[in-house]
This record gives sequence, C-alpha cells and structure tokens, in this order.
Amino acid sequence: MPTQQQPDFDAIAVGAGFAGLALIHYLRDAGLSIRVFDRATDIGGTWTWNRYPGAMTDSESYYYCLTFSKELLQEWSWTQRYPDWKETHSYMHFVADKCDMWPHIQLNTEIVGAEYQKDTGLWRVTTGGGDTFTCKYFISSMGMISEPVIPKTKGMDTFKGPLFHSSRWPEGIEYAGKRVGIIGAGATTVQMLPVMAKTAASVTVFHRTPNFILPAMQQPMTPEWEKDIKENYDEIVAKCRNHIFGMAFDTAEGRMAVDTPAEERQRIFEEKWTGSFRWVFETFEDLLASPEANLMASEFIINKMKERIEDPRVAELLVPKPGEYPLFAKRPPLDHGYLEAYSRDNVHLVDIADREPIVEITESGIGTTENHYEFDIIVLATGFKAYTGALEAFPIRGLSGQSLREKWQKVSKSIMGVCVADFPNMFVVTGPQAPFANLPTSIEQNAIWIKDCIQKMEQEGYDTFTPRQDAEDAWTAHTAEIHEQTLMSQGDKVNSWMMGANLADKPPRVLIYFGGANVYYDKMRESVDAGFPELEFNRRAG
Ligand code: NAP
Repeated sequence: MPTQQQPDFDAIAVGAGFAGLALIHYLRDAGLSIRVFDRATDIGGTWTWNRYPGAMTDSESYYYCLTFSKELLQEWSWTQRYPDWKETHSYMHFVADKCDMWPHIQLNTEIVGAEYQKDTGLWRVTTGGGDTFTCKYFISSMGMISEPVIPKTKGMDTFKGPLFHSSRWPEGIEYAGKRVGIIGAGATTVQMLPVMAKTAASVTVFHRTPNFILPAMQQPMTPEWEKDIKENYDEIVAKCRNHIFGMAFDTAEGRMAVDTPAEERQRIFEEKWTGSFRWVFETFEDLLASPEANLMASEFIINKMKERIEDPRVAELLVPKPGEYPLFAKRPPLDHGYLEAYSRDNVHLVDIADREPIVEITESGIGTTENHYEFDIIVLATGFKAYTGALEAFPIRGLSGQSLREKWQKVSKSIMGVCVADFPNMFVVTGPQAPFANLPTSIEQNAIWIKDCIQKMEQEGYDTFTPRQDAEDAWTAHTAEIHEQTLMSQGDKVNSWMMGANLADKPPRVLIYFGGANVYYDKMRESVDAGFPELEFNRRAG
C-alpha cells in the first residue's frame, strides 16, 4: 500500500493547448493545484505548432472555443467563419489572460517520462532538463493529432535546403520566389497549397490517394451574424453537446438519401452545399452508414470537384472514382481554393502512387522512378500518429511498469478514451477510443468528467483509483462493434489516420468511438451519476 507523501501538485497535465486550458479552469475551480507543462515556447498546442501558410480551423469559429464562461463567449469577437491559426492563437491568449491561467503554465519544458510510484501512490514526472515533479493525478492534454509521421525516405538527411514536417513550420522561413516540393496531399496540403502558390516560384505536390474535398466557403463575420450568435450562445453550446460530431449543426430531420427520389435528393444536396462539414450531416441521416447513400453523396462531390478542375489529367489524380472508397473512410479536407490552384502555371502535381513513386531525396530535390525534381524547400505534409502518438513518444509507465507504447502494440484500449487499465490516477483528454468530434466540445466534456472524478476522490478521501480491466475490455468491444457498422471501418484500405492505417510500424486498429459524440457525452454523464463504476477506488492503510 502507498505511504503518505505530499505531492508537488495535485495534478500535472502535459500540453498547453485547448485541453490544458480547460483542465486549468475545471481543476482550479475544484480547488486543486495544477501545473501544465508544454515544450513549446507558447501556449496553443496545435495552433502553436501548425503555422504553415493557410493553417486554419475546419470547425466554424463560434463553436471552436471553450464554453465554460458566458463572459468569454460574449467578449471575444471572431473575424471570420473559419479563423486562421493566428486568430485562434490570439483567442487562446485571451482565455489565458482573462482567466489568469499563466501561473499554472510552464513552457519550454519537455516531459520525457512519467511513472506511477507504487510505494507513494503518486506519479513522478521527469522533464528534459532532469527536474522531477510529483503529483497525485497525471493527465495527458497532448492532443490527438500532434505527433508527426516522418517518412523514412532514402537520402532524407542529404537535402541541402530546409526540409521539415508541416506541423513544425520553422519561424521566419521565406518561400516567396522559391521552388517548393510538398510530399503528401491531405487536409494540411489542401490548406497550404493555394496560399503558397501565390508567391512561391513553383509548388509541386507529390500525391498518392485522392480525397473527397468539400468546399469551406469562408465568410467574414458580419456585425449582424455576430449579434445573432451572441444572442443565441446557450442554444449553440447545447447544439454542440447534442450533435454526433460535437458541431453546432442542424440535423437532417430524419431524411434518408436512399428513401428520397433522385430529383429531390439532388435538390437537397445542392441547397445544402454551403460549405463546411454541415453538408454531410444536414442533408441526410444515412450518408455514413449506408453504402448506397454514401455512394450517392460521393458522386455528388465527385461532380462538384470535377467542375472546378481545368486539366483532366489533374482531375484524374485528385478526384476519387465512384465506389473507390466511402466518403469519410478518410477524413475529408475542407478547401479554400485548392482545386483551382492546380490551374496556375507554377503548380504541379506528381502521381507517386502509380506513375512515378518517390525513390529518394537528394541534395537538390526529390528523385522518382521517372524524374528528378529540383527544390529549394521540401515540406513533409505526411500526417500524424493520431490518438496514440503523443502518448507513446515518451515512456508513460503504470502500475505494472509497462508503458502505454508496450500496452498498445496491437490494440489501443481505453475506457471511453479517458482512462487506461493498469494506469491508476491517470487521465487522457480525447485519448484512443474517444469520439472524433469538434475538439473543444469533447475536451470540455472530458475535463468535466475528470474534475467530477477527482472531486469524488478528494471528497470521499480516496488515494487511488484503478481503471477496471473488465470496463476497458467492454468499452473496447463496444467501440469495435460500432466501428464495424460504419463505413469508416474501410479506412484501412486508404491509409486513414482514423484507423492508424497510415503507420508503417503498427497494424490498423479501432481508434475512434463512432457511436456519436452526443451519445458518448451522455455515457460520461451516466458514469458520473453512477459513481464511476469503471473505476475501483482505494484508500491507503493506516
Ligand atoms: P493526412 O490527412 O494524414 O495526409 C497525409 C498525406 O501524406 C496523405 O496524402 C498521404 O498519402 C501522404 N503520405 C503519408 N506518408 C507518405 C509517404 N511516405 N510518401 C508519400 N506520401 C505520404 O495528414 P494531414 O494533411 O496533416 O491531416 C491530418 C489531419 O490533421 C486532418 O485529417 C485533420 O483532422 C487534421 N488537420 C486539421 C486541420 C484543420 O482542421 N484545420 C488542418 C490540417 C490538418 P496517402 O493518403 O496515400 O496515405
């Protein structure tokens, strides 16, 4: 049994993005001491690291935010439908300033190890500088898309110019007038290309798998729109809480694409083509579950994409074929002029799937089986080790001494994405097997559950909670069963990060709870009301 010892902090969280800020608010409110560490030079998480040209949210601004304070919601003004990284970053500073969060944040501090100490019942957290801190509760707020995938291409270290991952955009890099090569064509490149193409000498995209690309349709925030939002914020927050993807969307009112006559279906598809993921959720209820309905939606998008691409050779590569894979088996990017950018003389597309795979990176560019392309800058927009990457990047060891990386070799099990068996007094914000949803909504719901759990621990005098193995097995089985019923389960055919199918060193797996974020939030509430039956609570002897 653990012996009595005072920790340095009640809670330590790693990651000062939205999750870190939410934890500071909720845990401080519950009377706990908390320190949030981040290796970055600033708060912001994703919005500090992803500074590539064109980086912006794909959720609409007015619900991509924290909702715990009505004052914050009323005082902040968004300038457009989708804020760019700078605006989101400024918003996060506004939250941290206004809520006096800075004393709880320690920047420039990388955490390189976290270990549960059986003898004390505390976590010991080690920094890159060799300092150690103890805490009763260890929390990951590192984000579910933060650890980059770096391909192991031959010659990678020989390139003479700057070569970097899109999420590690170097401060002050100048690409105007330069020849840029981009490897990868996912959501990041879709945002990056049209902006870079305006001033770069040339941009060449090395492309493998086509995406279903939806239009973003950016708009400025007008005073009337802002007034309407601010008068209805309670309803907007409730909408997010009750939506299957945590978004402030309307429902499709029970309409099924398969039951709707073709002409009427087309009319609804057209009428709702107003930008954002709304289209997927507000047109018909069955697009992500029925293969037939999904194909109807896919064909509509395919036609819309083709209308915008001038060169048929480019269209052949960029546009998925009907039935090639289901819409949403890969996360569709939102586009701000990506397809049109290929009409520019300085933008080039290289088919590395079939025609000329990449062979090597040389000191002056990229060599394929057919050509050598000369560049001044190479950007790896090759994606992320989603959900588990950050949690496996340094050893996090639980009761048995096993690390999360060791535990998750084959299956990334958890209890609702927030707790892991064998890891007492540890929480993860939006971990594996949580939903994929509007992240601030999910983050806040997780933070509330964590706060409620800690309050129970403290009020009832418990020292440790141990996540139950049977609860983890049950959640994993439930998540897998639901996953199998959706078309997202075909993500392994197209390297989808949503199944970890983009990783060379691991088999694809179920990483996301697709039973609906709203259903998941209800389950979290039920768990609190039932006294956290997934956890075993213990007191120290003596
Ligand atoms: P991604 O969607 O996983 O795309 C990675 C791209 O790199 C794909 O085109 C992939 O090709 C290619 N690739 C990977 N390894 C490669 C290799 N070894 N050789 C050649 N090509 C390779 O990554 P992402 O674009 O960074 O986006 C990831 C996710 O981050 C998004 O889906 C989104 O959730 C999030 N994100 C969000 C926003 C936003 O909300 N504003 C913006 C950017 C990103 P294959 O498809 O053939 O594997």
